[in-house]
Amino acid sequence: MARLVVVSNRVPIPDKSGTAPAGGLAVALQTALEARGGLWLGWSGRSCTDDAVGPLQRLKEGNIEYALTDLTERDVEEYYQGFANRVLWPICHYRLDLAEYGRREMAGYFRVNRFFASRLLPLIEPDDLIWIHDYHLIPLAAELRRQGVTNRIGFFLHIPWPAPDVFHAMPVHEALLTSMTAYDVLGFQTEHDRENFADCLSRHGLGDRLDAFRFTVGERSFTARSYPIGIETDDFAALAKRAAETALHKRMLQSLDGKQLIIGVDRLDYSKGITQRIDAFESFLTRHADSQRKVTLLQITPKSRSEVPEYEAMQRAVAEQAGRVNGALGTVDWVPIRYINRSLRRPALAGLYRMAKLALVTPLRDGMNLVAKEFVAAQNGEDPGVLLLSRFAGAAQELKEAVLVNPYDVEGTADAIARSLAMPVEERRERWTAMMTTLRTNDVFAWCDGFLDDLAAGPTPQQARP
Ligand code: UDP
Repeated sequence: MARLVVVSNRVPIPDKSGTAPAGGLAVALQTALEARGGLWLGWSGRSCTDDAVGPLQRLKEGNIEYALTDLTERDVEEYYQGFANRVLWPICHYRLDLAEYGRREMAGYFRVNRFFASRLLPLIEPDDLIWIHDYHLIPLAAELRRQGVTNRIGFFLHIPWPAPDVFHAMPVHEALLTSMTAYDVLGFQTEHDRENFADCLSRHGLGDRLDAFRFTVGERSFTARSYPIGIETDDFAALAKRAAETALHKRMLQSLDGKQLIIGVDRLDYSKGITQRIDAFESFLTRHADSQRKVTLLQITPKSRSEVPEYEAMQRAVAEQAGRVNGALGTVDWVPIRYINRSLRRPALAGLYRMAKLALVTPLRDGMNLVAKEFVAAQNGEDPGVLLLSRFAGAAQELKEAVLVNPYDVEGTADAIARSLAMPVEERRERWTAMMTTLRTNDVFAWCDGFLDDLAAGPTPQQARP
């Protein structure tokens, strides 16, 4: 079996006990790498001055070799904080208004991709399958091709691919689009993303579409299809069941004192629709006054990318908003919103999901949203909670039995909260059972195997999957 080489911006390094940070993606890729023997290359997370970037740091755990590179402070500022997080991220999430394009950052992005290629090049063996991840590294295959690499190279985009009008607003879009054609297999979260990508190609007259999945550009042909990322469904369900026995779980139940728990779990990011969600919750409480004192929204929102000004501003805005709602509606013995900025470990999260009657997963735009899937997997099938899910999350393409909402419609979302809390148990069970069947079929291992089968299959991958 061919060796697998994974490249991603960050790498989940195992700690001293040999366990890597938990997470579906890390687990799936680690399993695939273990089985084949493999290499994982990425940024160490450290930055240094221009002349201090040393050799790769190498370590080996079981069958997996890790290769980590430092980046310079300038690299991090231009490639990571600049182009990746202030241009590509907002544009792919339809926030043209937040995109801050600059030539310096763009040049830094391409420079760091060249640098990643130069670090990877000496490590590649002729039969390796190379799998590159996410928006930080779009031009990496083109750089590798330029340096003579002929291996099969795949790319998976974890975030949405936007509609052509949005993508074309990015000044350097043509170079990026062209660089995508250097891959052999391009993976997207949903068919909608894949079609947006295909529309971008056709608007530029880039290549020909042979069928639903296959494209040619000049001498090259490549496959583009959707591989919705999943979770380790049964493992997560078992984790949630065990968590229900822990002291934290019992303390939480006690503190709720009979109130129904509604849960929201999101990195603090403008794509997650947190302010619209709090507005909807306030509207629900105001228009259904009998629900006041009977429900509590636990909003878990770890800080992220605080070095980017939009994120810092949002941090203040959400804290103020939660404080305002608590001030306006709270009583001496009831706080409507428990808002925390700390990150929780997965076992604790799993237990809280299981305790909640309702999850509010209302991103304005999201590649997939794993929280939605984890919430469903964590439920007790006899008395499952309800998933209220934004139509604009990739997960909504699969979890059609969730209560689907438009997060921009605050009152509509408020009504959906009321409907969800009143939903009879038979209907909850029916919806949950259907969603669990989907989650078991499309789990993270199916995602990984599906992609790698196509990557390994050569120029004509199997035609069976959509
Ligand atoms: N997560 C976590 N602790 C937290 C909040 C989130 O471990 O306090 C995990 C969560 O369980 C999920 C991931 O972070 O696996 C978030 O993935 P998702 O696709 O929902 O959103 P992203 O942050 O990747 O945009």
